[in-house]
Amino acid sequence: AKEEGRGQFREYTTAMDEETRGRLQLERELRIAIQKQEFEVYYQLQVNVENNKPYGIEALVRWNHPKKGILSPHAFLPAAEETGLIVKIDDWVLRTACLQTKKWHDEGFGDLVISVNISKKQFDRADFVERVKQIIEETGINPHLLSLEITENMAITQIQEAVEKLIQLKKIGVQLSLDDFGTGYSSLSQLKNIPIDTLKIDKSFIQDTNSQNQENLALVKLIIAMAKSLNFSVICEGVETEEQLHLIQTEGCHHAQGYLFSKPLNYEKCGSIMQSMNEN
Ligand code: C2E
Ligand code: CA
Ligand code: CA
Ligand code: CA
Repeated sequence: AKEEGRGQFREYTTAMDEETRGRLQLERELRIAIQKQEFEVYYQLQVNVENNKPYGIEALVRWNHPKKGILSPHAFLPAAEETGLIVKIDDWVLRTACLQTKKWHDEGFGDLVISVNISKKQFDRADFVERVKQIIEETGINPHLLSLEITENMAITQIQEAVEKLIQLKKIGVQLSLDDFGTGYSSLSQLKNIPIDTLKIDKSFIQDTNSQNQENLALVKLIIAMAKSLNFSVICEGVETEEQLHLIQTEGCHHAQGYLFSKPLNYEKCGSIMQSMNEN
């Protein structure tokens, strides 16, 4: 029994070591990736539900790993958040997305809105507003066409400081969107007090709206109606089927994003899709 116990203990520590080693390895690789700029911004279309034309795009980061190929955020963002490296990544994504979208603006997509995800760590930086201002100046992007996506918990939890920051950002002229709406703890009445322009209804609501699921159907309708009555612009995420598109069209949702229109694509491919949509 004693032998067995020691064996188990050894296995356990080995597993722990492996986990720690894996994490340290990922952290090391992430630091190098930041230095070598191995990241790439992918863009996913947001479509105007009324006329099926491009309304905007969301910047979604990818890691072009030298050995593993293109990695999605779930493979490295948790580690990036834990180590604080996310701040550098987000800063790079914001700058790159503004630069590339400025090119699109100059090439005839004059009113395309670029949405960029902001992590809590980045938002909490004392110089965050200043940094956004700097990037706008450096890249020449029209601030009215830049939308910063924050989450409910960032906007609501430390209400005093956060609201102050949001007000400063509005003064610069940028738009503010509340991402993953419906998954946090805020109520629509709380949102009246913060300067948010757009609600992005989380994809979990849309994706469970088949004809069997009357409750989610009612919920999506209710959220869209309330958001509209409070004068928020509404984007539905995760639209995958014509049936889902039809539902949100009927309810008067303004914009939609999802695989039905396009997956996130690199700069060139996203540009081609927008081109062909404008020609039709
Ligand atoms: P998110 O902000 O909610 O972004 C939407 C996610 O849903 C994206 O996943 C997108 O590819 C996926 N998606 C879009 N349409 C559909 C659909 O029709 N069906 C389904 N099932 N999924 C769809 P992605 O690109 O893997 O990003 C995951 C998350 O990582 C994002 O969720 C966001 O929270 C975070 N993220 C991505 N890029 C950045 C970044 O540059 N900075 C920060 N801080 N976070 C980022
Ligand atoms: Ca987002
Ligand atoms: Ca989202
Ligand atoms: Ca999210």
